Amino acid sequence: MDCIFCKIINGEFNTEFVYENEHVVVFKDIHPKAPVHLLVVPKVHTASLNELEDKSLMGELLQAVKDVTKKIGLKSYRVQINTGKEAGQEVFHLHLHVLGA
Ligand code: 5GP
Ligand code: ZN
Repeated sequence: MDCIFCKIINGEFNTEFVYENEHVVVFKDIHPKAPVHLLVVPKVHTASLNELEDKSLMGELLQAVKDVTKKIGLKSYRVQINTGKEAGQEVFHLHLHVLGA
C-alpha cells in the first residue's frame, strides 16, 4: 500500500520512534508547528477517523498520548485530529497531533 505512515511503521525510513507499543507508534512531525509536535499513529492502517471501526483503538491512542507525554515530561499540550482534506488532512492514515510548548 502506498501510505507514507505505513512505510514509517514498517521501518522503511529508519524514523526514530519516541514511543512504541503493540498498537501505536509515536514519532516527531517532520514540519513541527509547535516546539513539541508528535504524531501518534496506530499500527493498523485506517484512512481517517471517519473510517475507524474499532473504537477501542481510540482508547489505545489516547493512552499512548498520556504515556508518551509522561515519558518526555510534557505536562501541557493539545491533541488534534484533522479529518478530511478540507480540514487539512494530508496523510490518510489516522493520526493524532500532540502539540506542546
Ligand atoms: P495531517 O495534515 O494529515 O493531519 O498531518 C500530517 C502530518 O504529517 C503533517 O504535519 C506533516 O508535516 C507530517 N508528515 C508528512 N510526511 C511525513 C514524514 O515523512 N515524516 C514525518 N515525521 N512527518 C510527516
Ligand atoms: Zn497507512
